Amino acid sequence: MFPGPLGVSLAGRAMEDGVWSLAARNIRDFATDKHRTVDDTPAGGGPGMVLRADVLSAAVAGARGPGPVLAMSPRGKTLTQRQVRDLAAGPGVTLLCGRFEGFDERLFDAPLPDGSFIEPVSIGDYILSGGEPAALVLLDACVRLLPGVMGAASSGHDESFESGLLEYPHYTRPPEWEGLLIPEVLRSGDHAKIAAWRLAQSETDTRLRRPDLWERHLGARVQSPSGAHKKKEK
Ligand code: SAH
Repeated sequence: MFPGPLGVSLAGRAMEDGVWSLAARNIRDFATDKHRTVDDTPAGGGPGMVLRADVLSAAVAGARGPGPVLAMSPRGKTLTQRQVRDLAAGPGVTLLCGRFEGFDERLFDAPLPDGSFIEPVSIGDYILSGGEPAALVLLDACVRLLPGVMGAASSGHDESFESGLLEYPHYTRPPEWEGLLIPEVLRSGDHAKIAAWRLAQSETDTRLRRPDLWERHLGARVQSPSGAHKKKEK
């Protein structure tokens, strides 16, 4: 599954250019029995199989690169653009991809040699059959932020989630399509008016489509005076 879609297009070119690299390892290589067993039945009963903590821990010890170790899991906190930015600015990341029912929970309770812990991370509230597509999503989000991968396009901080709002809607030629016109203001050439219109659209769309983001955005605005104060003290 790796590099899969990350081997083509912008990410693929950046990989060829040595901007980033990826080493995929098979956790079966870290099993110790002759059947190369990585899973077993769930303690307490129930369907499916659970990935063994001892085998996964050996896999992390043998395959870890620089940076944190994350395990793809719907039981983790949902990945955010902020976390993606932090990862992209860091030295790398080691990702564990689950299968079956997921990981033996003790994997998350035992410290790694450097004192850090494996952290579960989810890419959203739905269930995949395996962690690989989730890892590809996380890596794609990080790779596009690496210097030189996307040029100017990835630096725009208007992008959805960067400001806590969804991005404003885009339009392009032709000016009329299916009887639908590009909003007049975008053809006015008045940059201040365009900026105001875009902000209003961002706010409306966020409020209607993502009330969760909108609530947080309002909360952040209320708190910003004390935030500014804190900055001054520093
Ligand atoms: N029984 C688990 C789901 C297991 S799905 C539960 O209900 O929480 C099998 C594997 O797919 C998981 O171990 C994980 O690695 C991956 N996976 C599934 N959905 C995911 C998601 N939303 N985010 C990240 N990884 C996911």
